[in-house]
Amino acid sequence: MIIVAKADSKESDLENIEERIRLEGLKPHRIVGENSTIIGVIGTCSPDFREQMSVFKGVGRVIPIDKSYKLAARGDGRPSTEIQVGKDTIVGGDSFVMMAGPCTVESREQLISTAQAVKRAGATVLRGGAYKPRSSPYSFQGLAETGLLSLEEAKIISGLPVITEVMEPGLVEHVARCADILQIGARNCQNFPLLNAVGQTDRPVMLKRGASCTTEEWIMSAEYIMSAGNPRVMMCERGIRTFEDYTRNTLDLSAIPIIKRLTHLPVIFDPSHATGKWHLVKSLTLAGIAAGADGALVEVHPAPDLALCDGPQSLTFENFADLMERAARVAEAVDRPIRSAAAVAA
Ligand code: PEP
Ligand code: MN
Repeated sequence: MIIVAKADSKESDLENIEERIRLEGLKPHRIVGENSTIIGVIGTCSPDFREQMSVFKGVGRVIPIDKSYKLAARGDGRPSTEIQVGKDTIVGGDSFVMMAGPCTVESREQLISTAQAVKRAGATVLRGGAYKPRSSPYSFQGLAETGLLSLEEAKIISGLPVITEVMEPGLVEHVARCADILQIGARNCQNFPLLNAVGQTDRPVMLKRGASCTTEEWIMSAEYIMSAGNPRVMMCERGIRTFEDYTRNTLDLSAIPIIKRLTHLPVIFDPSHATGKWHLVKSLTLAGIAAGADGALVEVHPAPDLALCDGPQSLTFENFADLMERAARVAEAVDRPIRSAAAVAA
């Protein structure tokens, strides 16, 4: 980082700044110009130290040079990360990955029929929550262990790898036995003990953006997982909270190219939770593919009217099949063909 001294700073101020830098274990390097004096700080500065120096006596401005995230940053010429999921699926590779399924596992039959329908339509990964982060304690909380058993069965029957949410550090190992991708929900995007816990597994993790997380906060959460030892992180834009209340959240489409530019991680988006309305899911899926995402996460239910969770944003099997037809055309147009699990297995 670079510190620009105030124009009226005295020699003693500059010396104090340099002393403070040394105290932090870093090296100061003073450059005296005609109009201003700057002090280069050599070494890795923590965000806290940056903040602190910005109010230090004699400091005019602090200019960060390095990003606060080191492991997630794209860096010069760093290729995009590809994450293998299950046996045959690559997230972040040449093809677009469609993850689909019910919001929550409600019964064995509901899940298996949905798994078969989404596979037939061309999905590559099955989604389904067993542990549900519900806003109300009176809402259906998920089938927990029974839900995981159904997911395991659906995985065997359909051949689709599974993504499911984990909410507690103590359950990470248990859920990872069934999950091919561990989902960190929006509400837990900054649950640091949980991020550390999934960072200690070797399972791919999909990190949903917190509804009020800035780009940098969201990437720093990925950095937590990566710095704990797990490099297999994918980011998921699922809508942020804005003043708009027609939709459940506001899909930040710009986050897709932004995260791809700032990091080397795959980017997924979730048009279902972003909009809360099934009739908006189709157009936003097409938009997200066109914006360069590596995959989408879409909720599908055999009877949305009867769903225990998120029915209004869930697609019927017919609507999902129609979406997949259109999505395939957009994906082809942007050179990210959808490689369906059915085609892989054939
Ligand atoms: C989900 O995908 O099941 C979910 C609860 O989404 P979010 O964490 O984005 O609200
Ligand atoms: Mn849902």
